[in-house]
Amino acid sequence: MTRTDATDGTRASVQPDRGASDAASGGQWLRAFARPELWAAAGYDASHHDFAWQHRELARLMSNECPLPPDDVVIEAAMSAMREANFYPNSAWELRDALAAFAGVEPASVILGNGSTEILDVVTRTFITPGDEAVIPVPTYAFFETQVRLNGGNAILVPTTADLAFDIPAIRRAVTSRTKLVFLCSPNNPIGRSWTEEEVVAVLETGIPTVIDQAYLECGYGRSFAPLIARYPNLIVTRTMSKAFGLAAVRVGYGLADPAVVELLLRVRIPFSVSLIGARASLAAVRDPRVLETRRRYISEERDRLFAALSDLPGVVPWPSETNFITIDVTRTGRPSSDYVAEAKAEHLLLRRVAAHRLEGQYVRVTIGLHDENDRFLEVFTRSVHGATGSATDTTAH
Ligand code: PMP
Repeated sequence: MTRTDATDGTRASVQPDRGASDAASGGQWLRAFARPELWAAAGYDASHHDFAWQHRELARLMSNECPLPPDDVVIEAAMSAMREANFYPNSAWELRDALAAFAGVEPASVILGNGSTEILDVVTRTFITPGDEAVIPVPTYAFFETQVRLNGGNAILVPTTADLAFDIPAIRRAVTSRTKLVFLCSPNNPIGRSWTEEEVVAVLETGIPTVIDQAYLECGYGRSFAPLIARYPNLIVTRTMSKAFGLAAVRVGYGLADPAVVELLLRVRIPFSVSLIGARASLAAVRDPRVLETRRRYISEERDRLFAALSDLPGVVPWPSETNFITIDVTRTGRPSSDYVAEAKAEHLLLRRVAAHRLEGQYVRVTIGLHDENDRFLEVFTRSVHGATGSATDTTAH
């Protein structure tokens, strides 16, 4: 690329063709044109997924996926969609209608997306402009903060109380005239527990557009906040096919909101963001109640089994969970979380350190895996608690 027609004196001096290495470091010419807020923000880091795909020998107990592969009915729906993959997809109204019925809302209250990640991104781009604020109770899913910063917004992080309760008065106090969004996550990643309706209503009463990310809802038997949309047009619920439905690679998620909000979000979302393959696979999964119930039951039983075993270990405090993961406080074992992660990795198990904002102490997060993987995890983790495997050399967070 060359640029010779600059009329502005400062721009005429920039060197536009230095290539990709310049882009990474924010070279001068790029800075002259790209949105300034991008230089102060990092993108969401999903590199641990590539690491897991490159090391298939390692059990993926690190990214809150469903360990059970898709059922045949879902695979066949995806395969038959492939036979028509030469056409652009439709808007997936059948899936929208099925998810509306599943969630108990009107079809006009549903927006589909490329995973709930896309809906979270669309919501952020719809409301946040440079200088705006978003209130984010932490610890929570890191993507909220990432997207707010990339859009030039200020993330106002509100820590939980010392006993891990959501600090409602502090959240309400954090709201200013610049606040455009609040991000809640229920059940919360990484805390594991749901918000109560009382807590949610106390936040909704501020009148600020409020996202409740319910990605893990169907991993347990907690409550959906979708019915509150009828009373609170400022509520946007996000949900997904990635967790209890077990279709993370298919990339289908959805938002639930007042029809006027959905209509606005649809203007911001790109067209064709849900593939025909994703839509048909998801529709088959939603239509067959066994798909979800098998997984919900499996996840719940294995989680409760792991929780009970972890509770018996000295110095180990697993957090009660309604999700497909358990966050484990290992602070009182006297060993850093990096030791646990490294020792598990040496035994071919991928875990995640939880090093979220203002979370003091040492935490490890384990995703519910296959029965054998969970057994292996318990065995390795128990040895680590007792320090029996010696000190770790690998401290990567993968
Ligand atoms: N929300 C939360 C709280 C998550 O933990 C994740 C992914 N781990 C997502 C959303 C992303 O979900 P999706 O696959 O629907 O984009």
